[in-house]
Amino acid sequence: MTGRHTWWERRGFPQLRRRWHELAWPTRVGPRLAVAFLLVGSLLPLIGLIAEREQRIAAARDAQAEAQQLAGVIAANIGDGAQGRSQLDPAAVQPYLDNLKRQTGGEVEIVDLRRGSLADTMPAGTPGLRADPDGQIAATLRDGLIRNVSRGDGGSAVKVMVVPIRGPDDGIVGALLLDYTDLHEQVLSAGAHSRRLTIGAGLTGMVVALGVGWVFSRGLVHDVRRLTQAAARYAEGDYAIRAEVNSRGELRELAEALNTMAGRIAQRRAELVDLATTDPLTGLPNRRALRAGMARELDHARLRGAPFSLILLDLDHFKAVNDEYGHLAGDLVLREVGKILQGQVRSTDLAGRHGGEEFAVLLPDTGRDAALRTAERVRAALSHTPIEFQGHTVRVTASLGVVTYPEDGLTGEELVRRADVALYAAKRAGRDRVHSPPTA
Ligand code: GH3
Ligand code: MG
Ligand code: MG
Repeated sequence: MTGRHTWWERRGFPQLRRRWHELAWPTRVGPRLAVAFLLVGSLLPLIGLIAEREQRIAAARDAQAEAQQLAGVIAANIGDGAQGRSQLDPAAVQPYLDNLKRQTGGEVEIVDLRRGSLADTMPAGTPGLRADPDGQIAATLRDGLIRNVSRGDGGSAVKVMVVPIRGPDDGIVGALLLDYTDLHEQVLSAGAHSRRLTIGAGLTGMVVALGVGWVFSRGLVHDVRRLTQAAARYAEGDYAIRAEVNSRGELRELAEALNTMAGRIAQRRAELVDLATTDPLTGLPNRRALRAGMARELDHARLRGAPFSLILLDLDHFKAVNDEYGHLAGDLVLREVGKILQGQVRSTDLAGRHGGEEFAVLLPDTGRDAALRTAERVRAALSHTPIEFQGHTVRVTASLGVVTYPEDGLTGEELVRRADVALYAAKRAGRDRVHSPPTA
């Protein structure tokens, strides 16, 4: 197996590599977006710098072209002025240069074929422009090509345009050296403002990109975090929570999908709870619901110190109904009894089927006397209401046991047991009656 791994994998380098990947490209959304926006943002000033450089180069080229044109015109004028002589006459050239200097301000020097100075515009004693360490001037005198040379270095470099001067027969009679350093500076400084604007725009772009990125990614991260929190709450079973996001598009769709899912689960859950707590025959709350109601009433009563009561009801001789009319008739009677029972209690009371032909009613905030009155009303209603079934009239009665918290018991089991005892006391006493435990 080890043979299939490279040496760096065997030495634990994959972990290092993974660590490095996580550092270089984070796994969480927030830092990841921050890195992306930083990269994009820093591109803008970079583009600005490149544009600035291009503008500077273009300006230098413009200055050169202008210097070349000027030098060309001067050289042509001087050449024409030689008037047939094969050599330039310094005495004829000097006034022309002096005039030129007055007009343009740029320094000019004229050299002959051996690079001897014939005339110049410079104050006496200055070295002139004809020093030629790299032989550029000599080359122009030989081949007649225009050359652009730099003397000195860096910012103080002197820029000199070297242009051949031709006599009337087109032969080279000398060269014109034009110092266009000032012109170059002027052109460059004319473009400085626009170059500063370019860099400024790049930096502004970066700040704006970072700002927008920050706001955008903050919103996005915020939304993702909200979704995660909502999903965690759903997982805990809190289906009432709604995931809300500010972004549109996929995140909103995801939030809506989560909310729809939670809504459906909540609805399904309610249906299941309903199914689990409802008696299918009568549609009344079942024994499980009654037990939960009892727990609620006990909590409530203990907290508030208020009493509550429980009525247990068992139909009398119900077996006989089944025996005489059949099980279906028995079922119908049970449904009708459920309706009669519910018609006699308050909406805040909880009437349910305790099982078989036994029913129960929980009466919140109700003492013994009021509970006995309700039980009596139920008993009377049952015994006075005939139930019709396929042309037969069935009459049912019931025996009822009534208990009250706290005097008859402090727990649910105790209360139900004593209600049962009271109910059977009612049975023994002749049925169709209400009993409660004897008071001390
Ligand atoms: P008593 O309570 O007065 O002593 O007499 P009883 O005839 O009612 O006796 P018991 O409570 O023991 O019998 C209950 C009968 O109720 C037995 C059963 O056939 C009937 N029963 C229980 N559940 C249902 C049901 O869902 N449908 C029908 N049709 N009958 C049921
Ligand atoms: Mg019974
Ligand atoms: Mg019975």
